[in-house]
Amino acid sequence: MERPILASIDTKALRHNLTRVRELAPTAKVWAVIKANAYGHGFAAVIDGLASADGFALLDLQDARLLRENGWQGPILLLEGVFSATDLKLAFELNCCLVVHTESQVSALEALDLKPHQTKPRQIYLKMNTGMNRLGFNPSNYREMFHRLHAAAYSVSHMTHFANADQVDCLPSVGAQDDLFKATIAGISANTSTANSGTILWHRTALGDWVRPGIMLYGASPSGRYADIAHANLQPVMHLRSQIIGIQALKKGDRVGYGGRYQAPEAMRIGIVAGGYADGYPRSAPDGTPVWVADANSDGNGVICPTVGQVSMDMLTIDLRNAPQAKIGSLVELWGTHVPVDDVAQMAGTIGYELLCALAPRVPKQVIK
Ligand SMILES: *Cc1c(COP(=O)(O)O)cnc(C)c1O
Repeated sequence: MERPILASIDTKALRHNLTRVRELAPTAKVWAVIKANAYGHGFAAVIDGLASADGFALLDLQDARLLRENGWQGPILLLEGVFSATDLKLAFELNCCLVVHTESQVSALEALDLKPHQTKPRQIYLKMNTGMNRLGFNPSNYREMFHRLHAAAYSVSHMTHFANADQVDCLPSVGAQDDLFKATIAGISANTSTANSGTILWHRTALGDWVRPGIMLYGASPSGRYADIAHANLQPVMHLRSQIIGIQALKKGDRVGYGGRYQAPEAMRIGIVAGGYADGYPRSAPDGTPVWVADANSDGNGVICPTVGQVSMDMLTIDLRNAPQAKIGSLVELWGTHVPVDDVAQMAGTIGYELLCALAPRVPKQVIK
């Protein structure tokens, strides 16, 4: 038998979450953001589950090629553009739209000799820095770049990325950035793209023509707090499950794992679960991080049990006092339906994004249709 850890990827949940995006942004087109191997979920699942998106946004040319090889003929957006002039031709051969955020990219595009028979204009998303201070042109030279690209026969859309949309009650800041964006593009009519998941969920005055949801498609929270999406009707897509592979009966005072961080307050059983930091479970998870243990005789019923002791490379240990029926072979959900990935992340001092993206390649994935 294989080691029991498995990540199930629920394509129904992907479809549901995409529908939620469309309900929240009914007039916008949707770039489904699938960078970082679809936030750790794998391309196979999203090509199926997000097939009704209007386009896919990602980072690497190789991934764009993979999408084309899988038959995707719709739009692809390269979120950081290309990294060298030689990649430009390749990107256009794959019919990708490009983000442009530096002057050197503008010059490379001007220098590219567009063949006369190429009647379809090349699509550019010109990125404005509205305060994130990561990528993009400042408002002071944004318009000049727009006109240069326009003069070179590109079709240009306006784009920005908000620094604070991931905070639920930060409207003044998102509003101010959106105002700056709108003031800068005033009078230059073109499509706009501004909204990540946080904007779609919490700041819908700033949606633009093409939204760019990532994390909400996977059913996790832009803020890193599950409570913030508990009523947003999103479904978790990744279910990371394993099994109990060993049980220890501790006496009062016995210690658990490396360093003996946890000490049994009374006689108790602990379960050893096949899942550790080499699988992507965070080593920083403290005692008390929730896992869900199914009843021995049912998949549907179960209880939350807390982790105890240091997470190790291949295993973690859980307090079974809530689960007297648990035995070797009992199903354990590390995150998914019963344990939101955001809750595990919050305990471990990070956000769901990081845990999903860091799912280790050694964990087998099963795509559920
Ligand atoms: C990653 C990314 C997104 C998606 O962000 P989420 O918070 O996951 O919705 C949108 N736009 C850009 C430019 C990105 O890099």
